[in-house]
Order: sequence, then structure tokens, then C-alpha cells
Amino acid sequence: MDQLVSDLGQIVGPSHVLTGTDMARYSSDWLHQYKWQPRAIIRPATVEQVSEVVKLANRMKIPLVPMGGNTGLAGGTCGEAALVLSLERMAAIREIRRKSKVAIVEAGVILSNLHAAADAEDLLFPLTFGARGSATLGGVAILRSGESYASFPVKQRITRFSSENPVWGRPP
Ligand SMILES: Cc1cc2nc3c(=O)[nH]c(=O)nc-3n(C[C@H](O)[C@H](O)[C@H](O)COP(=O)(O)OP(=O)(O)OC[C@H]3O[C@@H](n4cnc5c(N)ncnc54)[C@H](O)[C@@H]3O)c2cc1C
Repeated sequence: MDQLVSDLGQIVGPSHVLTGTDMARYSSDWLHQYKWQPRAIIRPATVEQVSEVVKLANRMKIPLVPMGGNTGLAGGTCGEAALVLSLERMAAIREIRRKSKVAIVEAGVILSNLHAAADAEDLLFPLTFGARGSATLGGVAILRSGESYASFPVKQRITRFSSENPVWGRPP
């Protein structure tokens, strides 16, 4: 087995390192405008695992490309010969603070799941757009997606969210 794949498997578990045909759905964008061949797909579950993967990629000088829902339309997840770091397993909504209207989420939370969780608390997370069933909060925050929808004065709104995004750092 490829030593790199084996080392990555030690960090995230062998079943969460994908290669060969298992990489197909991580190897092109939503519109199939861009196609690429990653070295491997890594699916960490914790911040610590992400940290170890980042250190390994840095040591080996291999590009690392984060991926959320892969719904971006500008080729930002294009990871030719790179390690694609999928945040899909980091999808916990840790806490919704009803009074202060703050949601603490992991980077891989799908936008529509946050909508549902807010609704269950009789709150509204107002930022929305067509890809809400697949786009993640990490991707939304990085790209500042859908911001134009966020200012409607409806119901009680969750006005901020805080994401423990291991790729760009912890919330303040
Ligand atoms: C049908 C459809 C409708 C859409 N409508 C809108 C719209 O109305 N408004 C709008 O703004 N956009 C829209 N988009 C674009 C897209 O859905 C958004 O930009 C979305 O926020 C991307 O999130 P994602 O999780 O899919 O990110 P991805 O596509 O996975 O990634 C996008 C970029 O962010 C980086 N990234 C992803 N996650 C992380 C992370 N955790 N840490 C660091 N970097 C990360 C990736 O490396 C990449 O560069 C639409 C897309 C589709 C397919």
C-alpha cells in the first residue's frame, strides 16, 4: 500500500481515506465544468485529526484542498494531485444559544440542517440559497455565500454563527 495512504489511515482510520474510483464524487465540481484527479480524499472527524493531516501534508509538501458540500461554482475545490480534505464528517450542531441567538457548529454542517435546528428552537437562520441541502457552513463562511439574503427582519433570527473550523482556526 502507498505509504502516504497508510500514514493518513493511521490518523483518520483506513476507511476514511479514499482512493481510486471511490474518489469520483470528489473529483469534479457541481456543474462538471472542472475535473481533477486528487491523490486521496481524507475524511477527518475531529479538529485533532485535521491538525495531524495538515501537518503531514505540510511535511510532505503535498497541496491540501478543503471541501465542504462541493457546490461552489468557481472551481475552488479543484484538487489536482492534492489531498482533498472533506469536512463532511464534521457535521455536528454543537449548541444553539436561544437567548443570545448564537449557533455553534462544526464546519461540515449542511445549511438546511442548521435551518431545521434553528426552527426547532423557534429561531431562524436567515441565510439561504438554492444549494442549501448540500452546501456547508464552512463553505458558506469562506465564500461569504448568500449574504444578500441575510438581512430580512423575520421572526427571531440567529444573527451570528460561530464555526469551529479547523481549516481556518477556532472561533474567537
Ligand atoms: C444550485 C446552486 C445554487 C447556489 N446559489 C448560490 C447563491 O444564491 N448565493 C451564493 O453566494 N452562492 C450560491 N451557490 C454557490 C455555493 O453553493 C456556495 O458558494 C456554497 O456556500 C459553497 O459551500 P460548499 O460547502 O459547497 O463549499 P465547497 O464548494 O465545498 O468549497 C468552496 C470553497 O470553500 C473552501 N472551503 C470549503 N469548506 C471549507 C472549510 N471548512 N475551511 C476552509 N475552506 C473551505 C473550498 O476549498 C473551496 O475553495 C449556489 C450553488 C448551487 C449549486
